[in-house]
Amino acid sequence: MQRQWDLSADVVVIGYGGAGAVAAISAHDLGAETLILEKQEGSSHVSNTQLSLGAILFPKTEPAAVALMKTAGRVNVERPDTLDVDEAIMRAWARYAVSNEEWLMKLGANGFAPMENPGRRANWPGLASVQVNHLAEPNGDRLYGDGLFALLHRSVMTRSINLAWGTPASGLIQDETGQVIGVSAEAAHGAIFVRAKRAVILACGGFEHNEVLLKTYLPIAPIAVGGASSNTGDGLRMAQAIGADLWHMAVMNGSFKMKFPDFPLAFEENFARGSFIAVDRRGRRFKAENELIGYSQFWNAVLFDTSTNSWPRIPVYYVFDEKRRRAGPIVFTEFGAAGPMALYSWSADNSAEIDRGWIRSGATLPSLAHEINVDAHNLIDEIDSINQAARNGADCPLGRPASSISPIDTPPFYAVPLWPGLNNTFGGPRRNADGQVLHVSGSAIPRLYCAGELGSIFVNYPQSGANLSECVAFGRIAGENAARLCPWTD
Ligand SMILES: Cc1cc2nc3c(=O)[nH]c(=O)nc-3n(C[C@H](O)[C@H](O)[C@H](O)COP(=O)(O)OP(=O)(O)OC[C@H]3O[C@@H](n4cnc5c(N)ncnc54)[C@H](O)[C@@H]3O)c2cc1C
Repeated sequence: MQRQWDLSADVVVIGYGGAGAVAAISAHDLGAETLILEKQEGSSHVSNTQLSLGAILFPKTEPAAVALMKTAGRVNVERPDTLDVDEAIMRAWARYAVSNEEWLMKLGANGFAPMENPGRRANWPGLASVQVNHLAEPNGDRLYGDGLFALLHRSVMTRSINLAWGTPASGLIQDETGQVIGVSAEAAHGAIFVRAKRAVILACGGFEHNEVLLKTYLPIAPIAVGGASSNTGDGLRMAQAIGADLWHMAVMNGSFKMKFPDFPLAFEENFARGSFIAVDRRGRRFKAENELIGYSQFWNAVLFDTSTNSWPRIPVYYVFDEKRRRAGPIVFTEFGAAGPMALYSWSADNSAEIDRGWIRSGATLPSLAHEINVDAHNLIDEIDSINQAARNGADCPLGRPASSISPIDTPPFYAVPLWPGLNNTFGGPRRNADGQVLHVSGSAIPRLYCAGELGSIFVNYPQSGANLSECVAFGRIAGENAARLCPWTD
């Protein structure tokens, strides 16, 4: 059938985050004429890659990368039989992940530095052999996800890669044989059809902002979302519509987050140390390892309480005093919703957020307890015990080290609710080692690839750095393989 095409390229990349940028660069550098379709306008573009902490995993050797995947590709880390990625995928991932650093250096990265504290303490098989890094300036200053994306963006701009902003893809076009030959999209002037002479690469992120998909696939609701608003599961839906198999739909990366009804994204808490504690809805501290509620603690901390038929830790309250309020923002301003993408400017002393009603306050602990509806006796009891330990220089109950706390004794007192939070989803079309999307029948859908968090290979990974590493590895794999195809003919 003869079709009318509005645009045409060898390789069409859907989505301009880390994975899409890497896929486009890789396809272009192998000689393919490459076009990126991006849903958002350039002036207000915010992807998960730009919002991220910028931690990127660099396995030093291929065996180390495979060892990691043998843990991170399993549903249950203690059960080898629950491994969900095959040998070929592990080997492909390993081969590319070990050379990601060199690849990024060739693009112009100044260098990488080890992340001092990836923030997670899990001691799973394979983890000891990998290094979590971040991009660094020549003077050693740390760069976050926006810096990583800026590097990729510069590299896209210096190549003859076409980039169509404000052009959300809406569907995949197949010919009679089932091969993907193009994409339908919405341009400013209406629907358009884009020919992909060699292949289409889906790199349009997860379903962080699709309430129906979140409720359907994630085991917890409601969930406070810190990821980019434009990731609404479009790639998942487009792939499903042509029969793609799905995997890792319930996998997510998250932590406790602050979410307020009048702002669309959740904020990343940044307490770490000082005069604060975390209490549940009864005003009690709980086993959350030093109150630093990292990713690996997340699910345990929010478990449903069968004895009371309730979720006593949704929300959790961080309670702090005037000293902590004055010490600096209670959220990260280096990345995330209050970071350099400038979606929200959090006040240096947290006062604007008190005025907005996001942070609750009380002149005394009983009045604060009343404000947040927790038991005042429990709250006072917990704070007394923390203060006593802090003054004696002793470790606090529940394993929090003395070095991480100072007494919570300076009124007024404050509390902010934290909700189970989502950075990004991992679910999407199942892919093979070449980055091809698999049909429910098990065979690859001809000329369709995917990369990035959409259909991630990871199942269970307790530290940061995996997603960005995968964006670069599978962006390269998908881009190269797409570029190597011979163009289809009418
Ligand atoms: C706060 C936060 C911190 C994080 N920290 C880390 C970290 O330190 N290390 C790590 O490894 N991972 C981290 N992650 C996860 C990581 O950032 C993401 O998994 C990764 O950046 C995803 O890249 P991507 O290219 O797949 O998607 P994205 O970067 O989200 O890009 C997807 C793009 O597709 C576009 N798009 C969507 N739908 C369409 C459509 N229909 N048509 C065209 N375009 C479309 C979107 O607008 C967007 O620009 C973090 C995530 C968040 C939110």
